Amino acid sequence: MYPEKLTTHLEALALSSRAVAAMFRYDDREKATLDYELADPLGESRHAVAGRAVHQYPDRLLVHVTGRCAAHCRYCFRRSGVHRACGPLDERETGLIQDYLKGHDQIKEVLLSGGDPFTMGTDLWEYLLDGIRQARPDITVRIGTRMPVSDPVRFEDNRLIQLLADHGVVWIMTHINHSDELTAETKASLERLRKNGLSLANQTVLLKGVNDEVEVLARLFTTLVDLGVKPYYLFQGDLALGTAHFRVPLSRALAIVNELRRHVSGLAMPVFAVDIPGGGGKVPLCPPWLGAPGKKGWPLTHPDGHTGFYPEEKDGPVK
Ligand SMILES: *Cc1c(COP(=O)(O)O)cnc(C)c1O
Ligand code: SF4
Repeated sequence: MYPEKLTTHLEALALSSRAVAAMFRYDDREKATLDYELADPLGESRHAVAGRAVHQYPDRLLVHVTGRCAAHCRYCFRRSGVHRACGPLDERETGLIQDYLKGHDQIKEVLLSGGDPFTMGTDLWEYLLDGIRQARPDITVRIGTRMPVSDPVRFEDNRLIQLLADHGVVWIMTHINHSDELTAETKASLERLRKNGLSLANQTVLLKGVNDEVEVLARLFTTLVDLGVKPYYLFQGDLALGTAHFRVPLSRALAIVNELRRHVSGLAMPVFAVDIPGGGGKVPLCPPWLGAPGKKGWPLTHPDGHTGFYPEEKDGPVK
């Protein structure tokens, strides 16, 4: 069971936005799980290193810096994950990450993920960023966060903004799915980050009944570009337990994405991708990585050579 959790900001927004309510309000359909849905849909546990890190691609290290989120997205692919119960990294765990980064020259980017890293207090941020920079002054830091949507006042903390600005190249990877989430407060937090020198990119999850329409996605992506945020990935839904009602059949998803390209600029167009179910990495959903669907579903081939299948699912009613 994944408890319902919303911030005061989202409680208010869910009253006026159906899309926000659908993303954050518990729904009884979550009780229905399918036999091919997975507790660890990305197979992250297969590549676990240094305690709480995932080293799947040679040049990138993903670190689960905390399991906590300010609010719980109902479609979350880590909703049943082992990391969800963890609090922030402690000193020993930060030390393990430092040692791992020092010992692996090939790592060029460290991705701070979670949970939501910005649920961590500012003192912990100082400790973590100092630690990473001490170990590796040369690498790019990426921070994945939904906080500009769930609790935008977090970015009114001047000390936090200053820390982020003072630790070399830092990319903030936001997670925004619908233009209803772009409230005045959320826009202000993005502007604050941008004006303080942070680079901004966004990841969106394609969600049935939330953003599975060309106009909805076009409005979101063009607004993000206007805010200085590059739409980076649009993800097909992962096969997380109890999330079937959020998934768009892949054939319809591809039609939406093809049509979208006619309506937005190249800058506003994200890469449509999916993680190979069960592990193997992220694959762009276009040839030659995506093959023609057969009995087992859609064949996927990662640029690294890993293969897998994504099912073609039925398009049930939205409500
Ligand atoms: C998504 C992901 C990355 C980053 O992949 P990009 O395609 O560079 O954004 C790195 N490590 C893991 C384990 C990931 O899941
Ligand atoms: S913010 Fe990310 S990790 Fe947290 S519940 Fe939402 S999707 Fe999951």
